[in-house]
This record gives sequence, C-alpha cells and structure tokens, in this order.
Amino acid sequence: MKRTIFLQDENAVWLKGNLHSHSTMSDGRLTPEEMKEAYKHHGYDFLVISDHDRYTNTKNMTEEDFTMVQGFELYGNATNDKDIHIHILFDDNFDEFEHGQYIHLPERTGVATKAFCEEMRAKGAYIMLNHPHWSMLTSAEVEVDSFYHAVELINYESEWLENVGDGTVFWTEMLFKGARLWGGGADDNHNGDPVDSMYSGSFGGWTVVKAKDRSANSIIEALKTGSFYTSTGPEIYDFYVDGDEVHVVCSPCERIYIGGQHRCHQRKIGRHVTEFVTKLKGKEKFVRAEVMDAAGRSAYTNPIWLD
Ligand SMILES: [Zn+2]
Ligand SMILES: [Zn+2]
Repeated sequence: MKRTIFLQDENAVWLKGNLHSHSTMSDGRLTPEEMKEAYKHHGYDFLVISDHDRYTNTKNMTEEDFTMVQGFELYGNATNDKDIHIHILFDDNFDEFEHGQYIHLPERTGVATKAFCEEMRAKGAYIMLNHPHWSMLTSAEVEVDSFYHAVELINYESEWLENVGDGTVFWTEMLFKGARLWGGGADDNHNGDPVDSMYSGSFGGWTVVKAKDRSANSIIEALKTGSFYTSTGPEIYDFYVDGDEVHVVCSPCERIYIGGQHRCHQRKIGRHVTEFVTKLKGKEKFVRAEVMDAAGRSAYTNPIWLD
C-alpha cells in the first residue's frame, strides 16, 4: 500500500507561498500591494498578509496567476517573555471578520483562548503555532492534543536577523510526544529594510503546497491535509511509503535524511543526490524526510504516520 501526504491528483499544481507577513496595517513597512508585487516578482504563487491582531482583507487582490490567502497573527504576551503567537488562516468562504477589524486573544493561554481557537478551527480555520524558539516556548508547554494544525519550522526574518527562527527541534519533540502536527515555513517579513537589502526578512523561508488548483480555498485545503513541504532552498518532488520502503525525490542535494521514532534515522550523502529509496527499520511510528543542499539550506516533508 502506498501512503503519502501529497495530494494524488494528476491535475494538481505545486504552488510556492509565504504564509506569514506584516503590512502597513500593523507594524510592516510595505503596503499589501507592494508586498504582493515583490512576491510576484520573486516567483511566488501566493501570499498571506497576516497582520498582528488585525485582519487585512486582500481577497480582491487575487489575480489569475497570484493568490492572496486570508489570515492574521494573534499574540499573547507574558511578563516572562514567553510569548505565544498564533496564526489563523482561512479560506474565502470564511466571513467572520471585516477588513481592518482588530481581533485579540482572550488571554495568553488558558481556557478562553483554547475555546476561541477551537471555535476558529471548527469553523474551518487553519491554525499554526508561530516561531516557538523566538517565543522561548518549550515542547513541554504545549499539549499533545491541541487546536494547532502545524508548527512554524522556519521563521526566516527572526532566523536571519536574530538566529531564533528555527522551530525544527520543538516540532520534533512534539512529534516524539505523539502530537500530529504539520510543519510550515514562512518569512514573517516586516520589511524594515528594502526587500533586496542584506537585512531583508523576505524570500528566505516558504511553503510549497500541492493543491487541486490555485484558489485560496484549495491552498487552505492542502495545508489542512498536509499536502505541502517547507523549504529554505531545495525542492521536494515526491515522498511516500510503499510497503516497507520509503521514497524521497528532490532537487540536487548533498544529504537526504529519513527520520522517525526509535532512532530510525537513515541517510544518503553525495554530490548531487536526487533520490533515496530505503527500507523502513520497522519500529517507526511515523517517517519524515529532510533534504539539504550544498549551501546548508533544507527542505522538510510532513510526517507520514504508519498506523
Ligand atoms: Zn509572531
Ligand atoms: Zn509575524
């Protein structure tokens, strides 16, 4: 039996997008229109303007070859600096909020925030825990059965500028605890410096979905079902388990790693490795792949659970 998280549809499209960015509607320096042009120019297919505690409605900015996906980022600050930033994305049918409306978490954590996020999820929203490392969160502080669909693995602006944007260890620990969470990467760009400057937080971390079509609704559906990968450089073309074999197909890399539980790590290393086929060790509860190019940039698949 073949198992994969990628959508199996011969008409499916691969779409590169930035799930997390801030405009002049909150603390970003660029307008939504300027950001859309910058990301179009850099070959992206979709963009989320996810302003802090405020909904920037960009539905009417979608074009035939570029999709605006809706959402916002809510935060709960704590006196001990352990912030929680929660990403809430939704499709075009979701009409709870109006353009420019401020939305706040009821509290940093606790029953009211949990109830609010569960309500959003029940109404169809996609929910991601943002930049856990920047927020100084540990995996012990997040429940296994939470309302989150995903953890932000790559938060490029905080990684590039402050070296605190890598959520991969947090995510791995959550997976080891038994959580079923997708990954996800984004820029979280505020554009305090020009987009092409050394200090730009743009174009360094992204998510590539395999979706039914280019619509915002299909992109949200792909996110919810895990039909995507996260990258800072390499491309992943396929990842599946067929019987007792794992298959990874990617752009030329130096390393391909297979990870899972019970020290089931495997790897293939070489100059231009584009494929790795290997037998499972047999104790994996899930498998995921990470591929790394010669520049040290990585792409991450979502896990395939084997139960
Ligand atoms: Zn944030
Ligand atoms: Zn942000």
